[in-house]
Amino acid sequence: MPSFKDLDLSAAMQANLAQLGFSQPTDIQARALPHCLAGRDVIAMAQTGSGKTAAFGIGLIEGLKPKLFAVQGLVLCPTRELADQVAKALREMARAQENVKILTLCGGVSIGPQIGSLAHGAHIVVGTPGRIADHLRKGTLDLKRLTTLVLDEADRMLDMGFQPAMEEILSYTPKQRQTLMFSATWPDSIRKLSAGFQREPVDVRAESQSI
Ligand code: ADP
Ligand code: MG
Repeated sequence: MPSFKDLDLSAAMQANLAQLGFSQPTDIQARALPHCLAGRDVIAMAQTGSGKTAAFGIGLIEGLKPKLFAVQGLVLCPTRELADQVAKALREMARAQENVKILTLCGGVSIGPQIGSLAHGAHIVVGTPGRIADHLRKGTLDLKRLTTLVLDEADRMLDMGFQPAMEEILSYTPKQRQTLMFSATWPDSIRKLSAGFQREPVDVRAESQSI
């Protein structure tokens, strides 16, 4: 059985995972984490409940430069509920880390307070594609220092018609970025999306098992 201790994680991250009761990586975490930590692009497929959030979240948090107060990680989710869940999970994973600020930006609420929060800075933004694209157009979100882009539930985002918004968002990000795609299913449309968004991605599939 692989262990989190076999991965080159910071003492703070080991402490966070222990506190969360994550004693062993799930299958998708064991397969995806080494590539995520190495900075590779990854396409990962695993069923709901298999631990995909930590599979991208651990590497995302470990790769941050906390002293650089700029958005370095962006996680796109199909719905506000999922974005809230992901942000909560990431905050738990970053608890022992020094000063990691995570902001959610979703539609359905007024944009003004979000602009105020963005002015205070954030290391990671989690949000829905439409609202993220709105902020980019307004110039209230700056992704020039982005190092890692995560498309969570990429299949659902395609089903919901978010491809144009995702493409628009990509145009605001540096070419030298890591792009991670997570999905529960792997239709052809996802492969096409990957071809446009990723460079030499590692393909990772979990055995069908959950926790
Ligand atoms: P998915 O995104 O694949 O649907 P989640 O990331 O939401 O799955 O994880 C499902 C549940 O499993 C969450 O409650 C999470 O806290 C828990 N979990 C994730 N990784 C581990 C682990 N290594 N050990 C124990 N529980 C875990
Ligand atoms: Mg998930």
